[in-house]
Amino acid sequence: MGVPLYLEPRLAPRAASLLASGRFLHALVDGLGSPLNVLLPDQLADNLARFRAVYRAHRLTGRILFAHKANRSSALVRRLAATDAGIDVASLGELQHALGAGFTPDRIVATGPKTPEFLWLAARSGIVVHADGRAELEQLAALVRRYGLPRADVLLRLSEFASEGSRVLTRPSRFGTPGAELDALLTTVERCADAVRPAGVGYHLDTTSLDEKAVALEGCLRAMDACRARGLDPRAVDIGGGFGVSYLADGEQWERYTTELTQAVMGRRPALTWRRHGYGLSHEAGTLRGSLALYPAHRPVAAETYLDALLDRPAPTLGRTLATLLLEGMYELHIEPGRALADQCGLTLARVVEVRDTASGERLVRLAAGADDVALEEHGVLMDPVLVPRDGRRAAGASETVDAGGPVDAAGPVGVHLAGNLCLEADMITRRTVFLPSPPRPGDLLAFANTAGYCMDFRAGEAQRQPVARKVAVWRDGDGDAADGPDGADGSGAGPWCWCLDEEYWPVVQQHGTRQHGGGEEADEA
Ligand SMILES: *Cc1c(COP(=O)(O)O)cnc(C)c1O
Repeated sequence: MGVPLYLEPRLAPRAASLLASGRFLHALVDGLGSPLNVLLPDQLADNLARFRAVYRAHRLTGRILFAHKANRSSALVRRLAATDAGIDVASLGELQHALGAGFTPDRIVATGPKTPEFLWLAARSGIVVHADGRAELEQLAALVRRYGLPRADVLLRLSEFASEGSRVLTRPSRFGTPGAELDALLTTVERCADAVRPAGVGYHLDTTSLDEKAVALEGCLRAMDACRARGLDPRAVDIGGGFGVSYLADGEQWERYTTELTQAVMGRRPALTWRRHGYGLSHEAGTLRGSLALYPAHRPVAAETYLDALLDRPAPTLGRTLATLLLEGMYELHIEPGRALADQCGLTLARVVEVRDTASGERLVRLAAGADDVALEEHGVLMDPVLVPRDGRRAAGASETVDAGGPVDAAGPVGVHLAGNLCLEADMITRRTVFLPSPPRPGDLLAFANTAGYCMDFRAGEAQRQPVARKVAVWRDGDGDAADGPDGADGSGAGPWCWCLDEEYWPVVQQHGTRQHGGGEEADEA
């Protein structure tokens, strides 16, 4: 097998403590089936508080809006409704969900492609519409006039920002109005002034590049100037999401893995993937081709530290830092993190059904879950699952957080391939050889950490009538009492685990402890 190349997940205390509670997790899957999505709503409030701290450090105000599309969960949205956060909704269903969870209209922004019904409900309930372009503005204005609705607040979504010369420095987008067409857009805004009111401008760029985002943010500041020059009075700059997540605990593991993967593609070491998949790399006559199509799974700067870094940047042409320019303009800063706010807020459990060695010597571990139930691979995120043994035996060499306290498994590390539950050659949970500190057995669980952002329910379907994963919310008795601060409320020192179905979760239930859902227990090691 060679030296195991681990890619251990980064685990916040709450998730680590949950994974140490093997009996609780097994009881949940026994009762609710595999796969099972487990959400940690209180973590969302902690993540929010860390973003808010960055605002405070820069003396900025404005809304932090969770991009709902990252997860369909009710528990997450309802938990968030109990904070001061806002929510970014991208469909009629998400808007209804947010209103029903208790978000007041001033805390909701509608983004994404919109149907007339979505636009109507947005305008009717008085939420801010992040308008894609002139056509959408006119459509919205027509609805407002026709149905006698209150004037609608709009954010103008911009894209394709150019710096200094004429070279476009941000990537093209399906959405938004290109910076070069701002004048025409503002003319439309003026023409619709009876029906819409410009609240600000914004962008959302799907990139990890701070350079591009700095260009876009400066572009927005210039657009605010252009608005003011026309006598408009917008107050907010919305810089969208894309703050990212660091999935892995150890940067060196990531460096070593990608180096070895390249070596494997070059044929200089044994394969590291199923059927020599190259994750974007290939080799031709001794030359490496392509580039790694993977999410940078270990990111030293991600989530709130990414926001901090962006705000600290000098604007590309205006010189002073972006935070200073926002302050000088007395603008509100809106952000729409999806993945970053959902960081560490959930995991996906899958039961091991079969362990089998193939004729070609590979060990196949088949799970009661398909690739679409654990869509990490789809998002290019390479991260090991955590083995949660059925019988409490200890996974040799596993990190302490998953130490269940049982007898040590004598068998050492193994390299396995994780196969899904569909009758489809391609249904592999990952095409990577996964190294586990000890061999999984049928009945064990594999826990895929940090799936709450996009990797849990974005793609899951009912192919082959396999069950769609149920969702449960879990919390520890006493956790979350400490309001919305991260201090001391990491769930690790609190009482027994409690759970409920996702749709049954309301913040009031857990905070008052009026209902204790069965199945709670102390962490196994306690
Ligand atoms: C998807 C999306 C987001 C969230 O992006 P993340 O990368 O998850 O932070 C924010 N705003 C808009 C408009 C989006 O489409």
